[in-house]
Amino acid sequence: LFAGIQDAPLDPIMRLFEAFNADPSPKKLNLVVGVYTDADGKVPRLRAVQTAEKRWIEKGLPKTYRPIEGTKPFRDAVQALLFGAGAPILSQNRTATLQSIGGTGALKTGADILAKLYPDATVAVSNPSWENHKALFTQAGFTVVDYPYFSAETGGADYPAMKAYLRDLPKGSIVVLHACCHNPTGADLTIDEWRDLVPLMAERGLVPFLDIAYQGFGNGLDADAEPVRLFAESGQEFLVASSFSKSFSLYGERVGALTIVAENPSARAKVEAFAKRLVRASYSNPHTHGAAIVEIVLTDPELRADWERELAEMRDRIRAMRERMADSLQQRHPERGFDAIKVQKGMFSYTGLSPAEATRLREEHEVYALETGRICVAAVNSHNIDHVIDAIDAVVKG
Ligand code: PMP
Repeated sequence: LFAGIQDAPLDPIMRLFEAFNADPSPKKLNLVVGVYTDADGKVPRLRAVQTAEKRWIEKGLPKTYRPIEGTKPFRDAVQALLFGAGAPILSQNRTATLQSIGGTGALKTGADILAKLYPDATVAVSNPSWENHKALFTQAGFTVVDYPYFSAETGGADYPAMKAYLRDLPKGSIVVLHACCHNPTGADLTIDEWRDLVPLMAERGLVPFLDIAYQGFGNGLDADAEPVRLFAESGQEFLVASSFSKSFSLYGERVGALTIVAENPSARAKVEAFAKRLVRASYSNPHTHGAAIVEIVLTDPELRADWERELAEMRDRIRAMRERMADSLQQRHPERGFDAIKVQKGMFSYTGLSPAEATRLREEHEVYALETGRICVAAVNSHNIDHVIDAIDAVVKG
């Protein structure tokens, strides 16, 4: 039955993760996987999350099915987070939100909806992008192409090249955009570049699909959602995949949401019903536990304020590590452009290390990084930062 299946190798992240687990060295350091760890190298249990969880369990509610689209307070809270409390779009009744299985599930449901409606559309993802973007849209049946994005020279985004490419994409193409904290590079568009891009998307008839998996890790909850808000203000139709895996440190609970912005209430009702039918035949209903926690935190003013403080602490800690790494490495190797590390945002950085240097980093210093030179800065802390800097210094010296 299955013998004819072609080999399906693991993606590089999972391959390295397995190699890391098999490595017996006590000094080994994992800068591969996209998980935030705190100053002691632990995945945090956020205070607000723990309190919400306790409250939820104390209620002792029956574990019945949750609505296909999730509860209304959850969906309203997601929309307020994306668009800003009191944003005009919230009262226009043209926005549908569905709870999803993490950010991945939001992308997948969005991809399935679009594939049913526009099977011949091309999907454009940034070069480079999160590995799973290409896989997920390909599996949904699309042809996936890359748009130019990262400039190795500056360590930032190359907006002129991106714009020139998008301008020539066929009308109706779907463009996946990282709203903030680009994975894997950490290089984001500036707000002026977003202001330029938003009308261009409408003019060219392109379909924006925003991925916001790190809201709050760049410049702040509101600032990171600014691209989403610009699209909302423009009146265009678009999709947004939210993830709460990182911002609530609830990875395994798989909490996310798909938000679809339609042109008017009747189109919203149609696409919402369509999405629910697809979900019904896929996994039927979303889970309860993680989403209930997120809902409690987002709707209780005290917990919400505490969560925002904890999120700010995570953001500030990453920033501090970025600054130390960038300053130290820039001083030692001014020609390598390491100062980009402190301009880049979120959990990841493209360090500019070559595949050979990344391999030596692993083989000679037990620091595991992707061959692309991507490191997870959110796994660097004051206990391991000197080791990371010295290891990078050593491989760059050759
Ligand atoms: N989009 C991007 C850019 C991501 O980096 C990730 C997670 N690594 C996701 C989506 C998916 O998030 P989740 O774990 O919530 O499915």
